[in-house]
Amino acid sequence: MRTTVGIIGAGPAGLLLARLLHNAGIDSVVLESRDRAYVERRQRAGILEQGTVDVLREAGAGERMDREGLRHDGIELRFARRRHRVDFPALTGGRSVMVYAQTEVCKDLIALQLKEGGPLLFEAEALAVEGAGTDRPRVRFRHRGTEEVLECDYVVGCDGYWGVARAAVPDGRSFERTYPFGWLGILADVAPSHDELVYARHDRGFALLSMRSPSVSRLYLQVPADTDADGWSDEEIWDELERRFETDDDWSLRRGPITQKSVTPMRSYVHEPMRHGRLFLAGDAAHIVPPTGAKGLNLAVGDVVTLARALAHRAATGSEELLDAYSATCLRRVWQAERFSYDMTTLLHTVPGATPFEDRLQLARLDRITSSRAAETDLAEAYTGFPIG
Ligand SMILES: Cc1cc2nc3c(=O)[nH]c(=O)nc-3n(C[C@H](O)[C@H](O)[C@H](O)COP(=O)(O)OP(=O)(O)OC[C@H]3O[C@@H](n4cnc5c(N)ncnc54)[C@H](O)[C@@H]3O)c2cc1C
Repeated sequence: MRTTVGIIGAGPAGLLLARLLHNAGIDSVVLESRDRAYVERRQRAGILEQGTVDVLREAGAGERMDREGLRHDGIELRFARRRHRVDFPALTGGRSVMVYAQTEVCKDLIALQLKEGGPLLFEAEALAVEGAGTDRPRVRFRHRGTEEVLECDYVVGCDGYWGVARAAVPDGRSFERTYPFGWLGILADVAPSHDELVYARHDRGFALLSMRSPSVSRLYLQVPADTDADGWSDEEIWDELERRFETDDDWSLRRGPITQKSVTPMRSYVHEPMRHGRLFLAGDAAHIVPPTGAKGLNLAVGDVVTLARALAHRAATGSEELLDAYSATCLRRVWQAERFSYDMTTLLHTVPGATPFEDRLQLARLDRITSSRAAETDLAEAYTGFPIG
């Protein structure tokens, strides 16, 4: 098998890259280790930055998102039983975010790829990237029990944190931080208790109220890193959520049947550089952020937009200039997202063993954001997204 761009992984990064390359007249093959149903059901991100929304529309993948997605013009910060709304358009010159689940983004991109794009092989597991430093890189992969080779001009590792592509970048350097807590996340068949996301800081730990649709709520609780989700009964989860979202007014939490429960670890990770020869890394294959800043999927989108532009420039002019700049261009944005995600995480979570002094500092940081327009604007600009490229 031979193609111009071999893409490993059909998450948001790999699927959108294939779409952008198709639109630019560049052929690609996508290899995905899981089956289609698994990829379309995997519950993860739900907040699309303004820039991500624009990219999906321009790529011809925004039609259902515009019909079913929920535009959000703000978030609520909740602490010390108080509520404070951050108004995005007022602080950022009109920007907002869209609530549209990652599962739906992937479904839309898969449908387009199968209808109009190049090959997308499910149950095709990449085993190794070979010859990345040469002009004939290839991917060895197993498809339905048979080992095969995909010969490429370029290979892009969009295979997430646990993929194989990163191992083919020699002399890389990684920067990592793990947190002593995770998120117990639930999906519940109940209308959201608030029409925007609520980020709550409480002495018992952080909680997030989010949604997938007008009838499905997505809620999270900070829990110790080694928590078993099944150790929590549905009633215990609702009781704890109620405590952490408590306010001085008459706001109340709606309860409903929980349909899914899982624990997500929290990690910050960056691999530098994001390129070796003709192998490029994009999305979670190169970097991870804790989900507090809602940046992971949006970073993956920024990477592949930058890479698709560089590959199109190479095809049109023969110049490698933008490909050479790819890693540095992406890493600048990645580190801003890492900083913001770290700030949001340390602002809102209780850290085991924190001193009363540190607790007071956390409350002072929240007080500053909710009383200074400059501090609030900084949060709103970062939340709605850093520029791509
Ligand atoms: C609970 C949770 C909540 C989140 N919330 C948000 C949010 O609100 N906003 C946000 O922006 N981000 C959020 N994220 C992060 C976001 O989901 C990820 O950053 C995003 O999925 C990255 O996309 P990706 O395509 O790079 O990687 P992935 O989505 O991980 O896709 C990688 C793909 O590669 C495949 N693969 C792996 N190895 C191989 C192999 N050897 N061969 C072939 N295929 C392979 C995998 O099966 C997978 O389909 C959240 C994550 C979690 C876990």
